[in-house]
Amino acid sequence: MLDVAIIGLGPVGATLANLLGKLGLSVAAFDRATEIFPLPRAVHFDGETMRVFQEAGITPQLLDYCHVSPGMKFVDPNGKLLVDWPRPMEVGSQGWHPSYRFHQPDLERLLRERLHDRRGVQVKLGCDVYAVDEHDTHLTLRYEDVCNGRLASLDARYVVGCDGARSLVRRLIGSELEDLGLHEKWLVFDAILKGPWPRSLGDFSIQFCNPRRPATYVRGVGNRRRWEIMLMPGDNVAEISRPENIWPLVESWISPDEADIERGAVYTFHSVIAQNWRKGRMLLAGDAAHQTPPFLGQGMCAGVRDAANLAWKLQAVVSGRCASSLLDTYQAERHPHVAEYIRLAVRLGRLIQATDGAQVQERDQQFAQGPELLRSITPALGASALNDAQGGAGTLSWQPLLRDGSYMDDKVGMNFYVVAQPGLIDDELKAACTAAVMKPVLVPANEPAIADWLDALGAGMVVVRPDRYLLGTANTPQELRRLWSRLG
Ligand SMILES: Cc1cc2nc3c(=O)[nH]c(=O)nc-3n(C[C@H](O)[C@H](O)[C@H](O)COP(=O)(O)OP(=O)(O)OC[C@H]3O[C@@H](n4cnc5c(N)ncnc54)[C@H](O)[C@@H]3O)c2cc1C
Repeated sequence: MLDVAIIGLGPVGATLANLLGKLGLSVAAFDRATEIFPLPRAVHFDGETMRVFQEAGITPQLLDYCHVSPGMKFVDPNGKLLVDWPRPMEVGSQGWHPSYRFHQPDLERLLRERLHDRRGVQVKLGCDVYAVDEHDTHLTLRYEDVCNGRLASLDARYVVGCDGARSLVRRLIGSELEDLGLHEKWLVFDAILKGPWPRSLGDFSIQFCNPRRPATYVRGVGNRRRWEIMLMPGDNVAEISRPENIWPLVESWISPDEADIERGAVYTFHSVIAQNWRKGRMLLAGDAAHQTPPFLGQGMCAGVRDAANLAWKLQAVVSGRCASSLLDTYQAERHPHVAEYIRLAVRLGRLIQATDGAQVQERDQQFAQGPELLRSITPALGASALNDAQGGAGTLSWQPLLRDGSYMDDKVGMNFYVVAQPGLIDDELKAACTAAVMKPVLVPANEPAIADWLDALGAGMVVVRPDRYLLGTANTPQELRRLWSRLG
């Protein structure tokens, strides 16, 4: 019997498969499609997400397919700047830049290639899972090989539904969706530049806050450029994505002489969260659990965070080191976090989508606050048995860059770790680490970057989980033991 079956090998399933494989679990990852979905979807991810990709082992290759984003500008119909939202061009607290542009199929290909080296991970493409039977000790997945119609089954201790917006696993869990209120149709138009583009819009993303037709421009990687254009009353949804209808919508920026159409498609941007992310041995992650309008570029990022949060918990439970109730902390922590991002995206979407006089007035009042309104939010995880909001619990750790140029996460591996002031490290502290249910790596804060981080936390020690969120801070071995007791 396998430890975990993952249904869906999109970016979230492929990230989870990599993390579980790295942790030594036996995994089967199913996707009904035989190929990666070829068309562009996500174009942005953040530094925290890059840090998870670092853990998944793909950053050296991924960097060749990314570029650092300088940020976003909001302009009115006359081109007047309403708000400038620049993103730092330096490496930030995650050890990576705060904002990257990329092409989703490139990322998915790298994640899948990395799985080839993960002993213990089987990839089952062209396999459509149509049923999951529940037993006391495991689940049985039933699936069809779409190439020949052959039916087969496989047993696993846990199943994670990374099966996207129309998730089978969500239906089997019986979870309804909480509606956060935004469901708007937009045309997404991806263009490939043919050569020099004299009317170049530059490297910033631009929100064209035009009440007659709100639109977004995104500078993609290489020669890729995207326009997202809101559908207005009277638009013909079935016809608008035809080339002869797309070009007039973008004629003030680009023409068929300058670019080819990669695709044009109408999407309804949803804002929903599943009410239950777990039933027994079945769990949800990614779009199966939540969907956000893309105004903050956070949909996939949220799913990647799910994968990081879930991977170590599944390992802890499957290995018998922690009780299965640890898995209840998954939704408790992730739901409030992702809800905060979705609510901000909905709020931003309402401003961008302002079309009548009152909405435009409201927008201008909000934008008068400047980029404060949009400043990148870094919410803590929701309250769970693991974090009580004391001592920074549930906040994201920094990733110090070490003197030899290496990354802290690579040094400690995908483990718990304790960073301690060198003066606090004695036999009692080491014994408190040995007693921990999840054996931590002990790191003396004897490098400037690590010491600075500990100083910023105002603590003698900090305990970091394998998903790089803080279990908490401590100053004595007794306090450290109390932190371990949260893991049961
Ligand atoms: C226009 C647009 C722009 C976006 N921009 C951004 C952005 O800039 N940044 C960002 O972070 N996010 C963005 N997103 C969101 C992002 O694309 C999604 O959040 C992400 O693809 C979700 O990944 P996933 O792995 O959860 O699901 P999916 O990518 O949907 O993958 C689900 C997989 O499950 C498989 N599957 C489903 N059911 C079964 C079954 N029964 N058996 C076997 N296989 C099954 C499917 O074939 C599919 O491969 C954007 C989305 C859109 C549409």
